[in-house]
Amino acid sequence: MQNDMKTPLLAGAASDASEPLPRCPGGPVISIIGSGDFSRSLAIRLVACGFRVVVGSRNPNRIDRGLFPDGVDIRSQKEAVDSAERVVFAAVYPEHYYTLVGLRRQLAGKVLVDVSSATRLNSGEQSNAEKLAELFPESRVVKGFNVISAWALQAGVHDGSRQVLICSDCSTSKDTVLQLARSMGFSPMDVGGLCQSRDIEEAPLILFPSWGGPILTTFILFLFFYGYNSLKHILLPYLDKGQNNFHQLPLVTMNETLPAVALVTLALVYLPGLVAAVFQLCRGTKYKRFPRWLDHWLCRRKQLGLLSFLCVVLHAVYSMCLTLRRAAGYTLLNAAYHQVKADVENSSVGQQVWRSDLYLSCGILGFGVLTLLAITSLPSVGNAFNWREFTFVQSGLGYTALTLSIMHTLFFGWDFAFFPVAYPYYLPPMYLLALILPCIVLGPWVVIAQFYISCFLYCQYLIKA
Ligand code: NAP
Repeated sequence: MQNDMKTPLLAGAASDASEPLPRCPGGPVISIIGSGDFSRSLAIRLVACGFRVVVGSRNPNRIDRGLFPDGVDIRSQKEAVDSAERVVFAAVYPEHYYTLVGLRRQLAGKVLVDVSSATRLNSGEQSNAEKLAELFPESRVVKGFNVISAWALQAGVHDGSRQVLICSDCSTSKDTVLQLARSMGFSPMDVGGLCQSRDIEEAPLILFPSWGGPILTTFILFLFFYGYNSLKHILLPYLDKGQNNFHQLPLVTMNETLPAVALVTLALVYLPGLVAAVFQLCRGTKYKRFPRWLDHWLCRRKQLGLLSFLCVVLHAVYSMCLTLRRAAGYTLLNAAYHQVKADVENSSVGQQVWRSDLYLSCGILGFGVLTLLAITSLPSVGNAFNWREFTFVQSGLGYTALTLSIMHTLFFGWDFAFFPVAYPYYLPPMYLLALILPCIVLGPWVVIAQFYISCFLYCQYLIKA
């Protein structure tokens, strides 16, 4: 082990791990066992980064050399392993590892990189890398590169995923592979010993691990509001009076549902912070773990915020398309006809002008602030902020967006909620339901906003009187 520490990480490379590997045609020789897709892409990337590559195949004569870049040597498996100065990639499927045992002697002391992935999640079996380490006890097995697809390897440093998870029980060998990955333009991440290899192997199989809960929550909210709206404005009027409003389902109902979902989802971003504060106050300390459900909720705030933003974007697009509908044209003509019949020359109502201007303005401002929040949630943008800037944007601007969204809804609702006509079949307007949770989060602010709106309406009433 002592001697190990003195060995250069890669032959031809300086012993200092932080020093870049040489990038020249005479660079270190890296061998790859297997001549399939992954081997080909890896060879292309290694050659582009200045390494010499020898590919080991069971039958080198059968391989079309045009598939590999110039300078790649294609040999038998044994010759390839012999040529490797230190690093050998095993680019074969794990079920074929046993066919390589004849190379045990040649592979002794070399760094053997296992690039395989798991075929299923939570199998509880030994990892491929651990099996490989058992088959080759004299080699230093390192797990890595399996999270990079053959396509991403070929795409180059500016396109495709860059993070490479690496683990091994031999720290010098792991350093070698970390340094190699860095030289190839990746961002290697040391995740510890070989016992972590199962997680690395399962990483490519996991589908959006942090999005399941937020997507399900948003979907349930959507179903609830869409169902509620359809029941109140379409199904019950149809059953009661035979009114056929089913044409509203694709556009009008969607457009009324989306802002409600967006508002509640946005409130769900800030509610766990309040719940956490209440927990800390009740316990009298902040040095105690939150319950698991709250921890989980706190960790999903970004996803909830982005889903809320998606609903807001869709609502904006739907709203802009509302006037394009044929039904909107008919409604306008019918209104004009009734106005002419009633001999009304000017149908403008000052209060309604105020109402629409105010709710549109709040909506546009809220949309702008939410867009800013969504952009700053991108890691590349967020990383440029210090902690204070980040909290200002995510918390300060977040509450501003929530306040503007609530005001948008309140101005939209205006004073309609105070008339019985807003409660057909004893069902309250949907925007009132959507306001409950945001009002809990922003309690005092909503009271103030409501106060100003009431004052404004009262002034209008006095002016008229
Ligand atoms: P592939 O195209 O099927 O190539 C596998 C190669 O293994 C064959 O070309 C063959 O080369 C060699 N091999 C050695 N012994 C063998 C045997 N007994 N039977 C059959 N083939 C044998 O597979 P791949 O896509 O390159 O994947 C190779 C490894 O990379 C896998 O473990 C996979 O999980 C991993 N990986 C692949 C990707 C990807 O995007 N493709 C991404 C991440 C990880 P010779 O005939 O020349 O010996």
